[in-house]
Amino acid sequence: PAAMLAVLEAPGVKGREVLRLAPPRYAPNEKDAVTSLIRRIVAAPGNDHPPVTRAFNVLDIGKVAELFAPWRHGLKGVTPYYAVKCNPNPALLGALSALGSGFDCASPAEMDAVLALGNVSPDRIVYANPCKPESHITYAASLGVNVTTFDSVEEVGKMKRFHPTCKLLLRLKVSGAGGEAVLDLGTKYGAREEDVAPLLCAARDAGMQVCGVAFHVGCKVSRVDVYDDALKAAREVFDAAVVLGLPPMRILDIGGGFTAAAGGLFEEACGVINVALARHFGDIMPGDGVEVIGEPGHYFAETPFTLAARVFGKRTHGQEEREYWIDDGIYGTLSCVINVYKYKPRPVPMAAAAPADDGSGGETTHLSTVFGPTLDSLDVVVQGYPLPELRIGDWLVFHDVGAYTTVMSCNFNGFSASEMKTYLASSA
Ligand code: PLP
Repeated sequence: PAAMLAVLEAPGVKGREVLRLAPPRYAPNEKDAVTSLIRRIVAAPGNDHPPVTRAFNVLDIGKVAELFAPWRHGLKGVTPYYAVKCNPNPALLGALSALGSGFDCASPAEMDAVLALGNVSPDRIVYANPCKPESHITYAASLGVNVTTFDSVEEVGKMKRFHPTCKLLLRLKVSGAGGEAVLDLGTKYGAREEDVAPLLCAARDAGMQVCGVAFHVGCKVSRVDVYDDALKAAREVFDAAVVLGLPPMRILDIGGGFTAAAGGLFEEACGVINVALARHFGDIMPGDGVEVIGEPGHYFAETPFTLAARVFGKRTHGQEEREYWIDDGIYGTLSCVINVYKYKPRPVPMAAAAPADDGSGGETTHLSTVFGPTLDSLDVVVQGYPLPELRIGDWLVFHDVGAYTTVMSCNFNGFSASEMKTYLASSA
């Protein structure tokens, strides 16, 4: 309740209407609560809102507060620095700041978004971008953002020139996930093992302080023992620094890779991390002042967001197949289909035309293709997906769509993502 109150008072949330989720959380499935709110919004029976006629998102702001408890429990003492790139929705950022999160920012615009909240100081920002344009480095220096990542000798030179007092986190390449992450960031970023000593020497010789190590095991990684490999490698860098005459490192940044949308996977990852921290860092922390931080993106952004999109077109092929058009697609909220996400739309027929249930149980279904609104033939959301017969004016609901979705949308073909409304909701 204290966390929830803090969230409701947060910048970006306070002063905005927060719709109550009904039925409340004693409903069998909390997702049903969001779906019934969506039904209310689109049909507006007996509430104050005019019916809504185009796609919208619902941010369950209470869910953000709820996600903090398992984080604190599972990763005791690990401060989250939320990865803003994942979803910079102001209410989400405000809620996270009120709950005590720091922020991983990769660009001046992301720093501005966080500082505009008004309650975040620059020391709660990690400039987690190993390769930065010079003007961006100067901007970070002017704001007082004083911790950044690097993985090249060239970056050391740029930091020395444009922000010499900035502390550096050496970003390590982690490739152990072997395709078992939705997105493997190791293909682009991170120092290889053989690069570590030259990088440490370059920083030492430039008089730059290397304050720690960062890594990212890949988004939504399913093979969680990769955290053990990464922490082992990180410890080797801590030790190498001492051997090479650098001051002892103080920050261990375990990156992201977590998801709250896959059953107990988060808890499993926490288990591996806690054992690995004890095994590889047990002798130097916490007594020696090593601070552990993380950069979760998906974990906090994915599950609190739900999309409702309206069916506005239909084509029938015999008894078997159906094609539908909805007013959001891969150039909008569902952009992450590019990252091989598999969406599972759930139908919300409008009350007047609706069968007794929501169509998911027992009813005849057709193999359905759901297109986004643009003229691009790639704008396909699902194919061969079983859906009951839908009519124009029905809605499809997509759960867990908060990560790398709206932030990647654009106005291609004149379908304006920027106008899409986000409702705030909570069971509190
Ligand atoms: N940190 C960095 C440097 C990243 O590049 C990303 C994602 O691209 C994240 C954190 C967030 O990762 P995730 O969404 O897997 O938590």
